[in-house]
Amino acid sequence: MTERRTLDSALAHANLSSTSASSGVDYRPVAVMPDVRVVKIGGQSVLDRGRAALFPILDEVIEARKLGIQVVLLTGGGTRARHIYTIASELGMPTGVVATLGKYIPMQNARMVQMLLAKHGGLFILPDDFEKLPLYLQLGCIPVMSGMPPFGYWEKREGGSRIPPHRTDAGVFLSCEFLGARRAIYIKDEDGLYTNDPKKDKTATHIPRISAKELIERNLNDVVVERMVVEYLPRARWCKELQIVNGLKPGQVLAALKGEDVGSIISA
Ligand code: ADP
Ligand code: MG
Repeated sequence: MTERRTLDSALAHANLSSTSASSGVDYRPVAVMPDVRVVKIGGQSVLDRGRAALFPILDEVIEARKLGIQVVLLTGGGTRARHIYTIASELGMPTGVVATLGKYIPMQNARMVQMLLAKHGGLFILPDDFEKLPLYLQLGCIPVMSGMPPFGYWEKREGGSRIPPHRTDAGVFLSCEFLGARRAIYIKDEDGLYTNDPKKDKTATHIPRISAKELIERNLNDVVVERMVVEYLPRARWCKELQIVNGLKPGQVLAALKGEDVGSIISA
């Protein structure tokens, strides 16, 4: 007689789509590397401005690293990414193609940032290298990767737009959430969140702290981070805050890396 081996598994008999399947299991994800600072260097807001904007920011990252603060840098795409979005959508490319094309630009930016940081331990990484982060960070390296999440052809479409809803701001949030870090730090070119785009509206006022819920309710004309991230925030397990700092003002990046409440904070 053949013996039938069975695995005693809570999900073995569950339809994984049923709501009871998830509630039956005690699920508490671990914070993988909660002390890491997950930081985005803005594409249009920083990188496209060239060395005048970027070099002082990198100096502050290097200084933080010397203080023992662990930093992972992610890059935005900026104007070149917007250009390919424009061309690809005019040609009728599906969102998945637009997202796939869009990932090359932040990767170019990440490669340049890595070269600039090479002598200070700058290291280009891909999402699959997350498992090597403990080693890289213990060695004193500054890992640099593209902020674009790897959905590519599987990116979904949002409300009639062909623009991928998960771009580099989302990638930073999702990386933060995976690593178990409490704050996602966004280095941009304004003091944080305003009541409207301060470049277009001189009457816009600074909002130092706001909850995601309140921000969604205020339904501002324009916001400083991808809207998707603000929508995800209340559901996050670990990443409870988005901090937006002005990289063009000396000292702001270092203060944020030290954990100070500079700029604006959007909380879960
Ligand atoms: P990144 O370079 O990280 O991609 P973006 O250029 O996409 O950053 O977004 C930052 C820009 O968002 C700022 O330079 C600012 O002009 C604009 N912006 C739009 N709405 C707001 C707002 N409500 N508060 C602050 N900045 C805003
Ligand atoms: Mg952007």
